[in-house]
Amino acid sequence: MAIQSINPSTGKLVKKFESYKNEKINELILKSNTAFQKWKNVSFDEKKKLMNNAAKYLRGNKLKLGETITIEMGKPIKQSISEVEKCAWVCEYYAENAESILRNEIVNTDARESYVQFDPLGIVLAVMPWNFPFWQVFRFAAPALMAGNVGLLKHASNVPQCSIEIEKVFIEAGFPENVFTNLLIESSQVKYVLENEKVKAATLTGSEYAGSVVAQTCGKLLKKTVLELGGSDPFIVLEDANLTEAAKTAVTARLINNGQSCIAAKRFIVVEKVFNEFTKLFVDEMKKIKIGDPLNEETDLGPIAREDLLYELESQVKKSVDAGAEILIGGEKINKEGFYFEPTIIANVDRSMPAYKEEIFGPVATLIKAKDENEAVQIANDSDFGLGASLWTNDLQKAKTLASKIESGSVFINGMVKSDPRLPFGGIKKSGYGRELSHYGIKEFVNIKTVWIK
Ligand code: NAP
Repeated sequence: MAIQSINPSTGKLVKKFESYKNEKINELILKSNTAFQKWKNVSFDEKKKLMNNAAKYLRGNKLKLGETITIEMGKPIKQSISEVEKCAWVCEYYAENAESILRNEIVNTDARESYVQFDPLGIVLAVMPWNFPFWQVFRFAAPALMAGNVGLLKHASNVPQCSIEIEKVFIEAGFPENVFTNLLIESSQVKYVLENEKVKAATLTGSEYAGSVVAQTCGKLLKKTVLELGGSDPFIVLEDANLTEAAKTAVTARLINNGQSCIAAKRFIVVEKVFNEFTKLFVDEMKKIKIGDPLNEETDLGPIAREDLLYELESQVKKSVDAGAEILIGGEKINKEGFYFEPTIIANVDRSMPAYKEEIFGPVATLIKAKDENEAVQIANDSDFGLGASLWTNDLQKAKTLASKIESGSVFINGMVKSDPRLPFGGIKKSGYGRELSHYGIKEFVNIKTVWIK
């Protein structure tokens, strides 16, 4: 894919970039390696200062950076600004906590002294998606850099200006040169980077396909990977739930990021007894959504990020309808410039349809009726994915029991799934493996070294 910014709300080309040639890639990897030799010995006090500077820069420039995000991938400006603020939060979290998390762990054994220490690995390549173009990068970079690694970024081809701005955050914060380096490269060049022996590990956030390609390359080379892939999160509503609140949250959880979030609720599984009541509330809430220019503060729903993704979404909806699904609201592309799709709810969905078994990346909710709570959990688990899940009931004891039965990396009870620097984030099944954030995330790219002294 060409490296270019196309504004999805107009469909117009904003800027095009040449991808780096192999010589430049080699030179930058060499520089990263040189940077690592020094960076791995930098004190936590110094790293903390620099990471807090990055947070300050992000907060101070959130309007400008938010605009860059919105112009490149179309999310409503208020969400872009919150994304930049969240990046500042993750920088502050690891600035504050990395040292204590990575402190040597004393273990009593037959030795005079034995302990575990956490050494950095070196250069880690991050292959990142466009949907949260800042957040996905910072939730990798803040812990990885605080652990003493250096980062290379291969960002999605449709958000090159974000990738350039992100590199600038680290430069402006005072990080030494090439502790964090942006590579303007295409996906076909990722293998070349991974094959360089100085690159020690990779993290990829993106589709199942891209994850499996990168994991295959790394598997062959015996390099560590973390994969954060797709999701088709269930949103389960039981009969004793607060339906008004559930319906309101359902709309936010489905439409966040113009419906293009891995942890967006995608399959709404509602028990028979309250199915009709919930459906009415859900449709009424969906009708209130303001669609339009994502740079407008009032907008709730902007365009799909790329034209090809708009057509893919349209085709998934059409195939589901052709197979017997019923549109309750929306269902069509919007006839205006840019890549807009109507907020949509589809019912009468069965497991043969794309709306049931595929990840739907856009403002389209799938409504599924379950006989009871056990069938609801069974439907929730009837998916290749296992990222997040949201469960609505006022019986918290029951909720905890059901949470243990749900196959996913997280379960949020009476709330929508969200990431938080203090909590681990990641999936099971085809949603990937490994964890980001919290103390688990920072330990993914370290050598957990045992030291034993007689
Ligand atoms: P994508 O097409 O897989 O792209 C993600 C990244 O992988 C991009 O940088 C892309 O580069 C690169 N890539 C694609 N094919 C590759 C290949 N064969 N070899 C090496 N790199 C390759 O995904 P996307 O459309 O940007 O993002 C949407 C997907 O990401 C959804 O499935 C979503 O659920 C998932 N996601 C998951 C999480 C999570 O935390 N689990 C978070 C956000 C998004 P190019 O752009 O140059 O192709």
